[in-house]
Amino acid sequence: MSEGKRVLVTGAGGFIGSHLVAELKKRGAWVRGVDLKYPEFGSTEADEFELLDLRRWDACLQATRNIEEVYALAADMGGMGFISCNHSQILHNNILISTQTLEAARLNGCRRYLYTSSACIYPEYLQDKTDVEPLKEEAAYPAQPQDAYGWEKLITERLCTHYREDYGLLTHIVRFHNIFGERGTWTGGREKAPAALCRKAAVAKLTGNHVMEIWGDGEQTRSFCYIDDCVEGIIALQASDFTEPINLGQDRMVTINELALMAAEAAGISVTLNHIDGPQGVRGRNSNNSLIERVLGWRFKVSLEEGMARTYRWIEDEVKRALESSNQGDELLRALSSSTVVRSALR
Ligand code: NAD
Repeated sequence: MSEGKRVLVTGAGGFIGSHLVAELKKRGAWVRGVDLKYPEFGSTEADEFELLDLRRWDACLQATRNIEEVYALAADMGGMGFISCNHSQILHNNILISTQTLEAARLNGCRRYLYTSSACIYPEYLQDKTDVEPLKEEAAYPAQPQDAYGWEKLITERLCTHYREDYGLLTHIVRFHNIFGERGTWTGGREKAPAALCRKAAVAKLTGNHVMEIWGDGEQTRSFCYIDDCVEGIIALQASDFTEPINLGQDRMVTINELALMAAEAAGISVTLNHIDGPQGVRGRNSNNSLIERVLGWRFKVSLEEGMARTYRWIEDEVKRALESSNQGDELLRALSSSTVVRSALR
């Protein structure tokens, strides 16, 4: 499948990118990783790793030289606390990254291109209650994504489609539904719900204060998919000839309260949930995976409980490591027990 291929992974210093690089190497590909930063948790397994800012045209040309297949994962992104509060920065940066990487790939003669879109492209009006219908791919239109992050993803989906029609570049478009697992951002404001909840459960366990903060009433619903299943799915999609947008996720919908209790269970404690004001995103969202099951024979293998248990173990170790290297342990624990909303300015 990937054996002997020259592959570029953008965003290779990030969560999904670092796992993808490792799996592509296992399958015999030659891999160039590109990112603004090296992987935060561990070293890269890429044959070549270049620190490049893909908002720059020259960097995009450099990244895509002598490459057959591109996995375009680089994006300025984060969890709800980040994407609900940084619309200008996200739209500006991600449009530059996505349009220029795609055009550079075309000019450099790349053959296959996989773009990582998101469940955030789906219209807000279909996600206004907790008990929602799982979203099918065709539900994307009439368009009304909630955030700038989703609008950029939707526009780049269309750009990929037109590049395929106009230039014959074989573009694939995957819509991820909440991917989680080890080596994902777990603190600092860009972390997503599963990591934030595992961190809060670890702090509750280590301090003996068994209270976990939750944004909103915690009744908002989502589905979550474990990283190994995600990587398996995108490698299969890249190898296929399927070019329409396709969902990749689990179809088991849980509330954020249920996910919090799962994290607490992984920690081996029982907790009280303290609901506070905070960004919540759409009220309910679930993935309909019948298309990916039909065209790729892909279905998730790792249950939510198992994925959360693995993620929890890794995050508890990370919290302990952070405490060991801090001389202000109590202050750090207090900070890690809450989530922050980060507003950043364009760099
Ligand atoms: P991540 O933030 O861990 O990885 C993204 C990487 O892109 C980061 O390492 C970041 O440094 C890099 N990047 C940002 N700006 C860059 C620039 N200007 N030049 C080069 N690199 C840059 O996120 P992830 O969870 O690994 O997500 C990977 C892709 O999947 C993203 O496109 C994201 O939008 C998409 N996605 C992820 C999820 C999810 O649940 N994780 C859901 C939907 C879509």
